[in-house]
Amino acid sequence: MVSTSLFFLVILISAVIAQQQCVPYTSQFTFTPGEYPNIWSTPSTEVFNTAEFKQVNSSIKWSMVPNIPPKVMVNGTFVSSTYPATDPDCWWSYKLCVTPKAPGVNPDYYMCPEPDTWGLTYDDGPNCSHTQFYDFLKQNNQKASMFFVGSNVADWPNEAIRALTDGHHICVHTWSHPYMTTLTNDQVLAELYYTRKVIKYVMGITPLCWRPPFGDVDDRVRAIAQQLNMSTVIWNLDSDDWQMQPAGSFTSAQVDSIFQGFVDMGKNGTFATSGAIALEHELNNGTMSKAEQWYPAIKGAYKYVVPVATCLNISQPYAETNYTYQTFAQMLATTSNNSTSTPGGSGTSSGPNGAKSSTTKKSSSVSITSYISLISTVVIMLIAQLFGNLFQQA
Ligand SMILES: [Zn+2]
Repeated sequence: MVSTSLFFLVILISAVIAQQQCVPYTSQFTFTPGEYPNIWSTPSTEVFNTAEFKQVNSSIKWSMVPNIPPKVMVNGTFVSSTYPATDPDCWWSYKLCVTPKAPGVNPDYYMCPEPDTWGLTYDDGPNCSHTQFYDFLKQNNQKASMFFVGSNVADWPNEAIRALTDGHHICVHTWSHPYMTTLTNDQVLAELYYTRKVIKYVMGITPLCWRPPFGDVDDRVRAIAQQLNMSTVIWNLDSDDWQMQPAGSFTSAQVDSIFQGFVDMGKNGTFATSGAIALEHELNNGTMSKAEQWYPAIKGAYKYVVPVATCLNISQPYAETNYTYQTFAQMLATTSNNSTSTPGGSGTSSGPNGAKSSTTKKSSSVSITSYISLISTVVIMLIAQLFGNLFQQA
């Protein structure tokens, strides 16, 4: 009885510690009004009226951007009844189009060209409670591609820095996670530009890839991203983990059966000639737990589990050339440890803006709360033990 109570106490205290990671903290990074859009808001006049944004806007060759009107959404559903069935805009949300129809627009990356390969990607981070998840990846010497939301990077800068320090491959996932095809040109530009800017400010890198939230992209949005030197990365396997309860309507068992299907595909030859780019999420503890649960089976079913930079043979995925990631061939040559990336080829794994000291700062604050919790746990265990002995003696 006493041991059962202790077990639940430890679980409770562990949950409290996990929760403490999500308490807002003060970092060395400052966000002055006008320098960035409002957190989790579609960019508007707070940035549009600034000299900085006007300069960015004027640097875009708008003649290269197709004149496609923003798509219309009503009550969370696209109005597509008037949209031509020929899909002239290569609108992914309409018919999963990944090969643009507008001239000069680059095609999406949606699969790994290497056979039997699982391109590992996590969207929507950084998450305030991802420490355990990142520990898990590190313990497995596993790197992934992380598609970060700009507002989350601003809210959780030290968590973002850890992703880079751990060697993960970082891409842009917009500022406020909207349906991008519904936005104006200025809004699309600002969603991408300010996410890239906050990543550069906090992490010291300039990503060259991005992923549209919900996959919602068309040739107009692709062309604007291309003007910012960002490739569009979609997927060909969707775990639907984001739909899992309580955030969505899927049961845990439903998501399990989707993952099981992916494991079967890895074994039955579905990916014998080319690989997958799989969509998973760093969205909440549920999706991160699901990722950990299925990782061993995925690893067993696919020959290689790698970030997309590796499977696409992009050795320098940032504008800064001092970060070098392994090509697929280099990864094969070092399969003994299955390491897939080497952040900071020159030996610098922190950003040029003092990222390392910030990490230290955050670690110390977490450490203090963790120590307090640990001491509390020990005291409670001792008291429980004492009471247990008293009851036994009685
Ligand atoms: Zn997302």
